[in-house]
Amino acid sequence: MLYSKIFGKTQKETKKYEAKNQELLTKAGFIDQLASGIYTLLPLGKRVLTKIENIIRQEMEKIGAQEIEMPLLHPKILWEKTQRWDSVDVLFKTKSQYHQEYALAPTHEETVTPLMKKILKSGKDLPIALYHITKKFRDEPRPKSGILRGREFGMKDLYSFHKDKDDLHQYYQKVIDAYLNVFYRCGLKEIKITEASGGSFTKKFSHEFNVLTNAGEVDLIYCNSCSFAQNEEVATKKQNDPCPKCQTPLKKGKAIEVGNIFDLETRFSQAFDLKFIDDDGQEKYVVMGCYGIGTTRLIGAIVEVYHDEKGIIWPEEVSPYQVHLVGLNLNERKIKEKCYNYYQRLNKEGIEVLFDDRENVSSGEKLVDSDLIGIPYRLVISKKTKENVEVKKREENKSKIVSLEEAIKLFKK
Ligand SMILES: [Zn+2]
Repeated sequence: MLYSKIFGKTQKETKKYEAKNQELLTKAGFIDQLASGIYTLLPLGKRVLTKIENIIRQEMEKIGAQEIEMPLLHPKILWEKTQRWDSVDVLFKTKSQYHQEYALAPTHEETVTPLMKKILKSGKDLPIALYHITKKFRDEPRPKSGILRGREFGMKDLYSFHKDKDDLHQYYQKVIDAYLNVFYRCGLKEIKITEASGGSFTKKFSHEFNVLTNAGEVDLIYCNSCSFAQNEEVATKKQNDPCPKCQTPLKKGKAIEVGNIFDLETRFSQAFDLKFIDDDGQEKYVVMGCYGIGTTRLIGAIVEVYHDEKGIIWPEEVSPYQVHLVGLNLNERKIKEKCYNYYQRLNKEGIEVLFDDRENVSSGEKLVDSDLIGIPYRLVISKKTKENVEVKKREENKSKIVSLEEAIKLFKK
């Protein structure tokens, strides 16, 4: 991609933002705010989201989940059946000109359960796991923290259907592992899993996946040496207490919740009368689990964890491009030719490259922009690099000069 052509470039403005993710993503040209808690993803931002979604798809495939796409407009009657029309405080409600009332989906138990009731023919078909990746809505009183908490946001939600609790619990464990893989591949290696009370969505057993960062909204009591962690609100331990698993003094810190999973038991299958005939001839309610990952929230969490004073530092698997090729001194015909040839060569090799081909921008400005955008590798071609190219990792200060061919080898995996 030629940077001169990209829609949404870096901004020089010095406006103050309350959240670092909002500031950096806006200034670097990844997002644009339409209204409070409502954002457009510009081409760079959309590429990051697509990468996250594809990581999720791969990990969902591994645990046998099938992708569908459910509606976002939910008839009121479905939410009345589960007694959640009035009890979910963040439910967005809307009325059509024909006086029909709808909820704008904050979650999809109200649609996936009746869908399963229609399509499930026999208990022999269980277990089944379905997921989708779409928008969700929450009628937040005061959206804050940039794209961490919006009124409209991206989410992956998975629903699993089982004959009994044992089968659900086995699958639940598989989802925990799949989620850890997703977060790990997104560069978030320090995930703390806490047991949670479930908030307004369900009162049953649930777990939350938290990323440690000062920008977080959740307070955790956690162990640095093992996996022990508790949400401070419900914690039985406090800071400096010995860890119940390994005796290391516990720490306290802020975290962003990026995923949550719930054992729904038969709450929704009872509401929609979703049953199957078991081997013993008895009619039983299907046991359900639900599992969410906030996809746009994940972008915000990654930026909160991976940035410095110059800008974003994208982990490789979610970076909008693999390589940022920066051409300097492009007013010299030979250098310009070399840059374009190399750009085409990188494309031909299947390497995702963003090429800063702008001619009316100073060298200093291009390098500042490159740091702000945060692609993990920068390649500079200039008068100085002669027949070679300067390679620099975004998070490192030193660079090295290598031949064009050597640089290609670096990125071809
Ligand atoms: Zn421990």
